[in-house]
Amino acid sequence: MTVRARPQLDCWQGVIRRYAEHLPVSNVTPIITLNEGNTPLIPAQNFVEAIGGNFQLFLKYEALNPTCSFKDRGMTVAVSKARERGAEIVICASTGNTSASAAAYAARAKMKCVVLLPHGKIAQGKLAQALMYGATTIAVKGNFDEALRIVRELGESGKVEVVNSINPVRIEGQKTAAFEICDQLGDAPDFHFLPVGNAGNITAYWKGYKEYHAAEKSDTLPRMFGFQAAGAAPIVDGHPVANPHTVASAIRIGNPASWEGARNAIAESDGYINKVTDEEIIAAYRLIARTEGIFVEPACAAPLAGIANCVRDGMVPEGSLVAATMTGHGLKDPETAISAAGFSPTVVEPTREAVERVLGL
Ligand SMILES: *Cc1c(COP(=O)(O)O)cnc(C)c1O
Repeated sequence: MTVRARPQLDCWQGVIRRYAEHLPVSNVTPIITLNEGNTPLIPAQNFVEAIGGNFQLFLKYEALNPTCSFKDRGMTVAVSKARERGAEIVICASTGNTSASAAAYAARAKMKCVVLLPHGKIAQGKLAQALMYGATTIAVKGNFDEALRIVRELGESGKVEVVNSINPVRIEGQKTAAFEICDQLGDAPDFHFLPVGNAGNITAYWKGYKEYHAAEKSDTLPRMFGFQAAGAAPIVDGHPVANPHTVASAIRIGNPASWEGARNAIAESDGYINKVTDEEIIAAYRLIARTEGIFVEPACAAPLAGIANCVRDGMVPEGSLVAATMTGHGLKDPETAISAAGFSPTVVEPTREAVERVLGL
């Protein structure tokens, strides 16, 4: 049998191939990709109506990346560069999504992956991912910040490649989401809202918007609006938080690695950072699912609650163009979803009458 030539796929092939000119890659960089990026920008006018706003809202639905969070954009670059340098082991500390992404890209690169997770504090879907992709999974009896400290120390030994966002190429990959939004909207939005945990993403988006603007691929720059959870709001409160707590596990971080980057993004863009309570997070989490059919993980509800508060406080002028990043998929955290939903299935006998009774028919 003759061997067929590999087809030249006429489809999206990931953020490195699409945006190579803006990324720290060269012809010799092996491209480790799962075709991440190219995520939809979904209008969400039902939500705007529900919160009493009068502006246009677009959600960058990063849940549709290969491991269901935005972390894949940075990980494709981090793992490709690690491979290029001949590293054999990648390591990260994670509240869940970084480990899922690192484990997947390492598997594809035929590299070893080690993940350090805060013991008992990560969402089940994310844990399932790390285990399935075959990462060496270590549960640290402590919080994310403690796990990251250990990873930093191991990184200094030179034996492992750290793929947390303290690795600058992660930020480089993540900035491609800002490029995509400009390409999708035809320009930058007026406001960009996003959740802030370790603060890598707000740093990355602002870098991306600035670079696209400098390259004359967009005419304007957005104001960056970040939201932390009230129990894990070091940047808003102005000091590290020793025992961060919030239902939104992806942003349960007390001492953000990119604190400075977040501060710059907010200062340079005439932006804003504030916190929202867990009650506000859960309310927005339910509202976006019920009004738009968009299921996100709780961290994504922080900027949604933030938008609602900004509308209430008159901070979003009528007719504004607002983008918000939905960083991860709702299915990653089924326990929180089932408890937040507020009801469970009605159990009935297997008869038509029983179902009619439930429906009141
Ligand atoms: C990582 C993550 C965040 C926080 O992003 P930072 O870059 O750490 O600020 C928010 N939401 C989800 C779903 C995440 O995975």
